[in-house]
Amino acid sequence: MADRYRVFNATDGIYASPEVMSKAEAEEFIANFKETFRKLGYYLTATGLAISPDEVELAIEQDEPAPAPDLSAVSDEALLSEMQRRRSAKRKTYGAGTGRPRVTKTCEACGASFSAREFRQHKCSTQQGATHGAM
Ligand SMILES: [Zn+2]
Repeated sequence: MADRYRVFNATDGIYASPEVMSKAEAEEFIANFKETFRKLGYYLTATGLAISPDEVELAIEQDEPAPAPDLSAVSDEALLSEMQRRRSAKRKTYGAGTGRPRVTKTCEACGASFSAREFRQHKCSTQQGATHGAM
């Protein structure tokens, strides 16, 4: 397994980088990290303590792939909620609500679009007095 290593900053208790990399890249990352802070002269810990860059504990950890979740142990409510969340994320129009989608008709005289009800009431200025949609 090549690109499976992450650099953990044990001093701050966080990953030094979110990236998963090869072991050589991880070693290079640490060298660059220390070099950057050596130039700065100190490393500021999460608790606000300035320490020598050489004191920062950086460990290369092998990134374990996450085990496949046991879906039978997940409640129906949680699965449904996740399904809805994903559908919602895919949705391209928001707040459309339930019911029929709005169907619009374009007036040939003025080019404006109206719903069927609006279209029936629409009196076009280019056709004085004419009411569209009246059969
Ligand atoms: Zn019109």
